[in-house]
Amino acid sequence: MPRNQVDLLIRNASELATPHSGSQKPLVGKQMQALKIIKNAALAINDGRIVGVGKTSSVTSAFKTAETIDAEGKTVIPGFVDPHTHLVFAGSREKEFETRLKGASYMEILREGGGILKTVRETRRATEDELIHNCQRTLDIMLRHGTTTVEAKSGYGLTRKDESKCLRAIQQANKSHPVDVVPTFLGAHAIPPEFEENAESYVDLIVEEMIPSITKAKLAEFCDVFCEKGAFTVEQSRRILQAGSKHSLTPKMHADELTPYGGAELAAEMRAISAEHLLCSSEAGLKMMSKCGVIALLLPTASFTLMTQRYADARRMIDLNLPIALGTDFNPSCWTESQQLVIAMACRQLKLTPAEALTASTLNAAHAVNRAGDIGSLEEGKNADALILDVPNHSFLGYRFGTNLVSKVVKDGKLVVDGE
Ligand SMILES: [Zn+2]
Repeated sequence: MPRNQVDLLIRNASELATPHSGSQKPLVGKQMQALKIIKNAALAINDGRIVGVGKTSSVTSAFKTAETIDAEGKTVIPGFVDPHTHLVFAGSREKEFETRLKGASYMEILREGGGILKTVRETRRATEDELIHNCQRTLDIMLRHGTTTVEAKSGYGLTRKDESKCLRAIQQANKSHPVDVVPTFLGAHAIPPEFEENAESYVDLIVEEMIPSITKAKLAEFCDVFCEKGAFTVEQSRRILQAGSKHSLTPKMHADELTPYGGAELAAEMRAISAEHLLCSSEAGLKMMSKCGVIALLLPTASFTLMTQRYADARRMIDLNLPIALGTDFNPSCWTESQQLVIAMACRQLKLTPAEALTASTLNAAHAVNRAGDIGSLEEGKNADALILDVPNHSFLGYRFGTNLVSKVVKDGKLVVDGE
């Protein structure tokens, strides 16, 4: 049989490990653990797509190529999808970190004008070009750590002009960088200081001006809201998400991070694609989410950085057949670009297995950004977004931590990181 010519072959991998799509829905329960694992594996790539996955012997007898990568002793997995980041901002908050180490809480700092509000001031002052540059620098680091698609929220502008500026910076970063960036409008991240006494007027501004202008300019796919005591109430969050839906922005939510607040219930009611954080959600709320197919997007590095010792009850969520996804929550108070660190924490603090954590940071994360048809697993027809890890099997994920296991990154069929 003549062998088909392809652009690239990755061969001789000690192991290839990937979740598989099955029903087109995010994976739940035992499915999260059930990876497809191939020993001595190869991946054939043509035109940016995966055209063959299997044993090296069978893939190399079906395909020939001028370009090969020898992955002997290494593990091939899908590129990570980071489905929750606050990618675009200016400045930093290292001094506030020291204040928090001395015991000040997140909400105390916010009330004093720090936290998000400090970043808002710095982001409003920044030019669009500065923000694009910041995004690109972060995306470079994310890519080197294996993230090939990232969701990016606005939310440090909090005016019509500055939210648009942030979303345009995201759009430009997406165009100019190999990492794919999925934009989310999070005008409802905090009540801006100029509306401190009049939160309802800010909600009016979001609903009547920001959402229509942002959707008209096609700057976002999702609408997110920080539904929390001291941020946006359930009623305000509902109004914002409904306005987003009306303008075809898919709802997402920061829900029940700091207090039990009815966020999970609202996520189910709104048929949100995902509800995020969920540290304090009620059992009833989680059950409603499960019934409505809302993804539980968990952010253990956010808990770590809050230093409250409180983590989402992921095992209970898996028992309730909630699909779990994992993200970094990259932002100036949770500054990590690494899904590998998230996996390490998810294993220890959420008690996920490395296989479950891999599913949660690839295929289920792809579902959380509405991209699972194209990315999140190594299957024929999907985008060739793959990582070569310098470890012999996927069980090293989470087990080894604090260093970068990524040796090579292939994005859309092209070798974009070569750590050797
Ligand atoms: Zn967040």
